[in-house]
Amino acid sequence: MTEPIIGIDLGTTNSAVAIIENGTPKIIPIEDQSTMPSCVGLDGQGHLLVGQTALNQLAANPESTVTSIKRQMGKNTTVRLGDRSFSPEEISALILGKLKSAAEDYLKQAVNKAVITVPAYFDEGQRKATTDAAKLAKLEAVRIINEPTAAALAYDAESASNQTLLVYDLGGGTFDVSVVVVEEGVVEVKASHGDTELGGDDFDEELVQHVGTQFKNTHGLEIGDDLKAKRRLKVALERAKCTLSDQPYVKIDEDFLYEGKHLTSEISRELYEQRIASYLEKTLGCMHQAMKDAGITPQQLDKILLVGGSSRTPAVSNLIESTLEIEPSLEVNPDLIVALGAAVQAGTLAGVESQSILVDITPHTFNTSTLNSSFIGPHLICVPIIKRNTPLPCRKAEVFYTVSDRQEQVTVDVSQGESSIPEENTTIGEFVVAGLSPVPSGNPIIIEFALDLNGMLKVTATEKSTGLSKEVAIDTTKQTRTFDLEEARENIAAISGETILSDENAPIDAENDHQAILTESKSLKKRAEALDSSGLDAADVDEIQDLVKRTRSAILEQDWEKVHGLNQNLSDVLFYLED
Ligand code: ADP
Ligand code: MG
Repeated sequence: MTEPIIGIDLGTTNSAVAIIENGTPKIIPIEDQSTMPSCVGLDGQGHLLVGQTALNQLAANPESTVTSIKRQMGKNTTVRLGDRSFSPEEISALILGKLKSAAEDYLKQAVNKAVITVPAYFDEGQRKATTDAAKLAKLEAVRIINEPTAAALAYDAESASNQTLLVYDLGGGTFDVSVVVVEEGVVEVKASHGDTELGGDDFDEELVQHVGTQFKNTHGLEIGDDLKAKRRLKVALERAKCTLSDQPYVKIDEDFLYEGKHLTSEISRELYEQRIASYLEKTLGCMHQAMKDAGITPQQLDKILLVGGSSRTPAVSNLIESTLEIEPSLEVNPDLIVALGAAVQAGTLAGVESQSILVDITPHTFNTSTLNSSFIGPHLICVPIIKRNTPLPCRKAEVFYTVSDRQEQVTVDVSQGESSIPEENTTIGEFVVAGLSPVPSGNPIIIEFALDLNGMLKVTATEKSTGLSKEVAIDTTKQTRTFDLEEARENIAAISGETILSDENAPIDAENDHQAILTESKSLKKRAEALDSSGLDAADVDEIQDLVKRTRSAILEQDWEKVHGLNQNLSDVLFYLED
């Protein structure tokens, strides 16, 4: 058996270690976690703490705890820990030592060699300091590779095809974006740009400011005056921030936070996204600069890889997608991808065959639909809750609002597919939540989708103000590619206790006719929506609106003859207007 070589992501905030196992890169757990805080400390008795335990005492014991040592690498400086001082290499060596021993426990053999990643912008001095830190930890750094290179390797270890990738790495304290080209299996960083003072820490601080202001308004007290209370708040808000990546709201409850006063607050994802918008705009600026430096246009990009814990914020991928019109890849965990890529490189150096990472992902997007307004009146559009290529298992929620005053119930429909047009996706279920509070329109309803490893989708709708909720489970693996109306109807009936379309006993031929008529009216409605309303007469707009409205009632009445007639009318009007 060859001597093992491990791959290490020595991060500013978190570190991770991985190895090739049975041909694929695997993360080695450290105290049952996939990553370890890059944090070192001394406890009250002077015992060394590395990782989570050191981070846990940060709030209580800041003088004896060191974080973000990576920022000091290559500088001739020291940091204090209790009454002693340490070089950045020494602190990093303690972190590397813990990763090494986690790997040894896992592999049940000695580990003496590693591939370690560094940011693309690290200069020779910083790379040398990293190698020295490894030596202090009794690890030979057989290769130092760039983080974006590692990400590209993890993503497509054996792809023979030539590819141009954009690696967007938003970590705890730094942001890097690189253009990476893979040619004949050789990975090269063409351009790199970034901001060494931008990351998740800034987002935490935004939330601390927000909640601090609320606290001041309620109690007239400045939390910032008390370092311990402020640190405690920061820990709570970092956790809250991560929750907001999957949920539309998060509650914060900190008893006796400051001067005996409790802090309770609720933050919405919407507010959070507003607070960090200017930071995200800045990352886009860097992204354009890196592409310019590499001399490529967005059209030349084959893929966008999201790296770093902070890139889990949904606003990040949404913003990139709307700017570049490319959907970023979500297949590999952004906080593990660099360590996994380091393991791929390590495997190659150790002479171990490896292939790309195998992950369970959902191949489809799961949507619910919501009302949207256009000039022909409100119409339904699909809103993705879980996007395709999301690793399994996953749980995501979004908030929707009632449209009418005293609205008593909402219908939640669930569809599978990539379109925003409901007719183009496959309906896989529908259910009703009744008994909502008699309040004005805008009552928030949280819709959560949870998809397990077996493809079971659990959908929960909850009225935010009361907690009233309803849940259904849908087996998505049973879905065939074609839309099986009968099965869907049974499905719907089973979960909602009522049939949505009640022509169950209609003969097959008539059923087909109805389907054809329905399909036609849907496509006409789409054509109507696509018209440029600014170029139309008021009379024409009225006529279209009227026809669409009457068609909708006729469909509800299941008067197919009437629908057919209205379709012809609408078709004539559109024919003349589209010309
Ligand atoms: P680094 O490369 O700096 O070591 P990481 O890639 O581990 O950092 O990113 C750490 C940052 O990611 C922290 O600010 C952390 O709060 C943030 N983070 C981790 N998970 C999430 C999440 N689910 N949503 C938003 N931010 C997250
Ligand atoms: Mg990182």
